[in-house]
Amino acid sequence: MSDKQEFVEESVTDYETEQTNDELKKNIKELSDVNRLSKIKMKNVFILSMMFFLSLTSLIMLFLLIGLYFQIDGIKQEIHIIKDTEATINTELSNSANSNVQVDTDAQLVDELENKVLWDDNHLTENVQSDSAIRRVYLTFDDGPSPNTDAILDVLDQYGVKATFFVVGKQNYNSQYKRIVDDGHTLGMHSFSHKYNEIYDSVEAYANDISKLHDYLYEMTGVDCDIVRFPGGSSNTISKVDMKELINYLNEEDMLFFDWNVSSGDALGKNVSADKIASNVLDNVNKYKNVIILFHDAAGKQSTVEALPKIIETILESSDTVLLPISRDTFPVQHLH
Ligand SMILES: [Zn+2]
Repeated sequence: MSDKQEFVEESVTDYETEQTNDELKKNIKELSDVNRLSKIKMKNVFILSMMFFLSLTSLIMLFLLIGLYFQIDGIKQEIHIIKDTEATINTELSNSANSNVQVDTDAQLVDELENKVLWDDNHLTENVQSDSAIRRVYLTFDDGPSPNTDAILDVLDQYGVKATFFVVGKQNYNSQYKRIVDDGHTLGMHSFSHKYNEIYDSVEAYANDISKLHDYLYEMTGVDCDIVRFPGGSSNTISKVDMKELINYLNEEDMLFFDWNVSSGDALGKNVSADKIASNVLDNVNKYKNVIILFHDAAGKQSTVEALPKIIETILESSDTVLLPISRDTFPVQHLH
């Protein structure tokens, strides 16, 4: 190879190299342009993705918030329902508590009243004169039926003794009302509601209450009740109506009311002992020829049931003494005539 040729070739090579370099540079530039573009594109894609992601997140958050709102609303409604139920239960509880209080107040009141009633000698003389030497004793139970009714009936059954139940209007005690009648005891009317503020508001209110109880008992037992005991007794001082007006109403309806002259004191406290109840009764039975004893057939008064055997046994052992259920022929022991 000649020098010239070599030079030419080298020049060509140089030229080519230069050209290649240029091309390479161009390519690199293009590449870097592409790179820059793709970087921009990537940046855009990134931003778009981020925006998309953010929108999606916002949307999800929105849905969650809406869901939460409705859920809270639902929970709120549920709380509302629970609160309503609670309120109803509380009302019922306070009603029943009130009625318990009333029953207790009733008993307390009547016991207090009874202490004020002077059982003068006339009363006793009257009894002695009007009757033979026989002492008639009547066990009476107010405020039932109750969870204790069956236990009381069992004791009475055990001794073959008949008593009197002055009942109130209660649901779910059908069998107890029936058993009182089937066992041969006297079913008397006390009051349907046993609410002083209602029954003693007017003669009409009292009449409605007694009629309601009368029909209720007739429907359940077939007994046409006409024996009555006023809540608090005829001498109660709570009634807004003159008790004489209520007595007139009973007379018009041919209904007969009975109070009591011996109180067992079983409603004077929450836990009056069976011994105390028995002595309250037995210490006073001998004072009269016609003895109407006040007991309570009420929830939580188990000591009344416990006191019964001793009371019944002692009375049955007494000479010339009989235990009877109240009837229209019974001497009317009444605080108010
Ligand atoms: Zn009562």
